[in-house]
Amino acid sequence: MENCIFCKIVNREIPSTRIYEDRRIIAIKDLSPQAPVHVLFIPKDHIPSADNLDESNSDIVAHVFSVIPRVAAELGLRNGYRIINNCGEDGGQTVKHLHFHLLGGKKLDEKIV
Ligand code: 5GP
Ligand code: ZN
Repeated sequence: MENCIFCKIVNREIPSTRIYEDRRIIAIKDLSPQAPVHVLFIPKDHIPSADNLDESNSDIVAHVFSVIPRVAAELGLRNGYRIINNCGEDGGQTVKHLHFHLLGGKKLDEKIV
């Protein structure tokens, strides 16, 4: 998708620090980390948001969630972590390409709104 930051990162047109990659997803360090560990899991295919998931493409979510425990362990998140998906305007999504935040490395604030 043209003019999509995360598509450009996937295609290496914009540099990023990749900490995981396979055929379907990449995981990169967030540019402005909100916790000691802040990683973004990004499907290589352009799906605008979680609101665009259905039976035909939602298997990517299971794939992301199957990789997260491995990456979390490699990053030393033995005490837990938080996975966040911001969806749409009210959900605070700023990049319109589906992604999941992995946050950890400290005791996170319990507030979510
Ligand atoms: P959202 O608010 O859409 O859920 O999250 C977008 C995230 O992408 C933000 O945490 C923001 O810091 C991160 N981000 C935006 N542009 C870039 C970039 O060019 N590189 C990296 N590594 N992260 C980015
Ligand atoms: Zn995209």
